[in-house]
Amino acid sequence: MLTAIVGINWGDEGKGRMVDLLSQGYEVVCRYQGGNNAGHTIYVQGEKFVLNLLPSGILRRGVVNVLGPGMVVDIAHLRAEMERLAGRGVSIGPDNLKISSRACICLPANVRQDCLEEDRLAGAKFGSTRRGIGPIYGDKYMKKALRMEDLLDPGRLRRQLERLLDWKNLLLEKGYGAPAEQLEETLGWLAQNGDPLKPYICDTGLLLEDALKAGKQVLFEAQLGALRDIDYGIYPYTSSSTTLAAYAPIGAGIPGRKLDRVVGVMKAYSSCVGEGPFTCELFGPEADALREAGGEYGAATGRPRRVGPFDIPASRYGVRVQGADELALTKLDVLSYLPEIPVCTRYLVDGTARLDFPSGSALEEAKPVVERLPGWGCGIGGCRRWQDLPEAARRYVEYLEDAVNCPIRYVSVGADREDYLTR
Ligand code: GDP
Repeated sequence: MLTAIVGINWGDEGKGRMVDLLSQGYEVVCRYQGGNNAGHTIYVQGEKFVLNLLPSGILRRGVVNVLGPGMVVDIAHLRAEMERLAGRGVSIGPDNLKISSRACICLPANVRQDCLEEDRLAGAKFGSTRRGIGPIYGDKYMKKALRMEDLLDPGRLRRQLERLLDWKNLLLEKGYGAPAEQLEETLGWLAQNGDPLKPYICDTGLLLEDALKAGKQVLFEAQLGALRDIDYGIYPYTSSSTTLAAYAPIGAGIPGRKLDRVVGVMKAYSSCVGEGPFTCELFGPEADALREAGGEYGAATGRPRRVGPFDIPASRYGVRVQGADELALTKLDVLSYLPEIPVCTRYLVDGTARLDFPSGSALEEAKPVVERLPGWGCGIGGCRRWQDLPEAARRYVEYLEDAVNCPIRYVSVGADREDYLTR
């Protein structure tokens, strides 16, 4: 059985927390896209864990965790993340962590290129996390990138790197006027960070096929939301990879397989990191109060997130492009302080109210139509059954479910593993 847990919005919906919760029944948890440019925050018995590259299943014993071929891996970051978790008693070894031989290696040159480009753009920047993700995906599609399998073949590694740096240094030196990347220094970095990872590298496709043949439950974990997808998101303010569920089997190593179930994670309000159109955005004290209530600061960068009310056009679209079968609504508890809950019900584009999610300049010019629903005026963090929720909270959930046209199966009312209810 193949399940994907994916984001419906702009990211930071609480996917990590839902994967952690739902990974209970799963034997394999797999990341299929992206790199260390985002983070999942998970609380287990009040202890906070921030994961950038490792799948959330790493916190559960007996789960095999996979970094798929669709990923880009900064191996220095991965090692540091593994060591940090190991220092906190999480056991990580080649038996519970598998890295695809086809995943690309994000190099220091990619990080430098990302920073140089953001600096060049200055005021017009894209809000990159400066972790090299755009440049390494660019290298991949230019067919210049190094892959994890190259670490196992020193001759090939050197040849590939020579080819890559010949090309990359044209841009660094002649384009940006920056120092060239040095071959021996990069090889040293690759040896230092890559050698300890060698036992983890394998063909994750074979591993997943074997797991499925043995009747195992496999979970795919997305890293960013639908609206950050390179093709279907708010281009060009997107990530550089395909975040959608449909890509999960490809990005994990089993392109011929079909998903059995897609669970969309959707937040009870909106947040967005970085630049780009965010129609429902709130400003001033109303935004500050929501940001504080929701702790909306980036897990990878600490940047304050832009916040707004639940956005129906964007979320309906997110549900559609993800092909979600059911939803997990997160952070409902965050809205408890509000006497009335604002919801963005439509976009106004050229004076016309629209329910669809536009792209290009129509999206950039769209204005929100906001309506208000009754709040519930009390904490709900202790609710564990649907009937425990105050009526206004249940109404709000039902309203969202109708609005996005997909059943809400789980409602999360706190950050801890047990803080949720099932409908
Ligand atoms: P992800 O990238 O989608 O996993 O999301 P993040 O980890 O960046 O952000 C989600 C944040 O919200 C984390 O700090 C979670 O611990 C927290 N969180 C998740 N679900 C809930 C919830 O239902 N209520 C509250 N208060 N916090 C939650």
